[in-house]
Amino acid sequence: MPKFLFRRAKVAARTLARGTAAFRAAGAAAVVLLSLSLTACGGAASGNSDSDKPVVLTTFTVLADVARNVAGDKLTVESITKAGAEIHGYEPTPGDIRKAAKADLILDNGLNLEAWFGQFVEGLDVPHAVVSDGVEVMSISEDSYQGKPNPHAWMSPVNVQIYVDNMVTAFSKLDPENAAVFQANGDAYKAELQGVQDEMKASLAGLPENQRALVTCEGAFSYLARDAGLKEVYIWAVNAEQQATPQQITRAIEYVKANQVPAVFCESTVSDAPMQQVVGATGAKFGGTLYVDSLSEADGPVPTYLDLIRHDADVITKALAGTSTGAPAGAK
Ligand SMILES: [Zn+2]
Repeated sequence: MPKFLFRRAKVAARTLARGTAAFRAAGAAAVVLLSLSLTACGGAASGNSDSDKPVVLTTFTVLADVARNVAGDKLTVESITKAGAEIHGYEPTPGDIRKAAKADLILDNGLNLEAWFGQFVEGLDVPHAVVSDGVEVMSISEDSYQGKPNPHAWMSPVNVQIYVDNMVTAFSKLDPENAAVFQANGDAYKAELQGVQDEMKASLAGLPENQRALVTCEGAFSYLARDAGLKEVYIWAVNAEQQATPQQITRAIEYVKANQVPAVFCESTVSDAPMQQVVGATGAKFGGTLYVDSLSEADGPVPTYLDLIRHDADVITKALAGTSTGAPAGAK
């Protein structure tokens, strides 16, 4: 019997122990329901899904895609934030909280990515796992975030291999009967991650030395820039309310001018208007929209994490090498 059923039984028992008649009645009903679901070939009422699989809830779409690769068809994986959403300052809805209360496991990135997460899970009786545990953390070097961890560790596919290991461990605890499946799925996906890492590095390694600056809106590319040997420059450190101040824009303009940077970029989840100001003031091209904090919808350019890394490497390489004429502004 999956372990999460034991947890539900424990919750029901705690409810019974609370003492009032109402609680006792509710607890008894829960126990009856639980034993019914146990006799019905081990099926559990997970709540978020029609199937009897345990439900794993992630904080954003990138994690959901990685988690699905590890879970295969054994778990139901969903994301709280939708494709295209701004994830740092997201405000969970009552529906999100109801959904989370019924989940069997919640995965978050950690490293202060989800500013809303602590409050979100407060009071919920649902285990959660921080998938970035164990990665080599890079610090933010500018603005008020100086010295804090840069949360965008998934922008290195090598780090995502550690995310996968953490997911294999968490899923195996949740559903021990399928531990071998999670391990095999994780190993296969890690090989794909290494493949896309090698592709990305090879693609960006072709850029001439004087065109190896990656200028973006958010400072979300530290890990990718480190892996690919690029210098990272950004307008603001982390998506937040106080972003794109005149000083931040001036700093980017000065860098682009001084270094004759041929193209600059912005991300899909924020407005590219500040970067268009840099374009207007410098003559650099707008190199295109990059994806970091969210996948696209299924019919968009980056429906999966592997697509996201391939897309970004391709857009950056083409724009900086001058083989692209510059993409139109594509931000929402
Ligand atoms: Zn971000």
